[in-house]
Amino acid sequence: MNYVVGNLTEPVFRPPSEWDALLLPVTNGCTHRCTFCSMYRTKKFHIRKDIDEIKREIEQARAMYGNRIRKIFFEDGNAFTVKPELLCEITAYAHQVHPNLKKVSAYAHARDIVKKSDEDLADLAAAGFTMVYVGIESGDDDVLKSCRKGTNQDEFELAAQKCHRAGIDWSGIFLLGLAGDDPQKSRKHAIESAKLINRMAPPSPITWYISPLTLELAPGSDLWEQQKTGEFRTGSFIQILEELHTMIEYTDDNLQKCVFNTNHASNYLSLKGELGRDKASFLNSIEKAIKLARSRGYT
Ligand code: SF4
Repeated sequence: MNYVVGNLTEPVFRPPSEWDALLLPVTNGCTHRCTFCSMYRTKKFHIRKDIDEIKREIEQARAMYGNRIRKIFFEDGNAFTVKPELLCEITAYAHQVHPNLKKVSAYAHARDIVKKSDEDLADLAAAGFTMVYVGIESGDDDVLKSCRKGTNQDEFELAAQKCHRAGIDWSGIFLLGLAGDDPQKSRKHAIESAKLINRMAPPSPITWYISPLTLELAPGSDLWEQQKTGEFRTGSFIQILEELHTMIEYTDDNLQKCVFNTNHASNYLSLKGELGRDKASFLNSIEKAIKLARSRGYT
């Protein structure tokens, strides 16, 4: 169950692994309007200014749920727009009020991570903030530009390395299919994404997370409209599997402690393990899936 408190406005999103977190709004909506995303289109972005009110909501959650809160997820789409000292204050207070709190996390845009100094991020980690979920989507700067992600491969690498240094866990999310149905663009999207994964590897072995999702066009997004006019065409079932295969194939064999998970409902094949250690077995599973799909007439 999700634990909810305060004036959280619909629609509400959180990563699947935060299904049992207290959802605490520190912002409303998202700073960006990526072409494939319809998540926060109905919300006007703002940062909550009244920190005392947020603290009262943290207390209210304690009154409502007792000692049961083990995770808190800061809503909405980009909580890292909040000033670092305020994020620290909210995080530290949450730990003070909820004695069993183990994880505090948020969605964060790479540019807002990069804007924070190493000291800001270290302070945040010391206050008990534990993980960022970063929608990377692609390592290909052309794809990032066309989907209006507002950042690039260099900045993603910098953001990841800053989080590794600070001791904040890094969870990066890629989006298969975002390059559309052109085979060359699809392959470049996969190869550049692998290159970015290699560049984001921590210098010493700490656990980090990579999760590809598959593009699902949603009403309200720009790509939805572009699909209707034929300006954007989605890749085929097999092309998406090939993209996943290429992405894994081009990652370094010696990546360590990189938890890789494709069990999101949007994906065509569920893989779970570690990149590096399980690379050969992942590739083998995808090759079998492609063979089976072809034998059943998929293209
Ligand atoms: S993909 Fe992420 S950054 Fe882009 S609009 Fe959606 S929530 Fe905001």
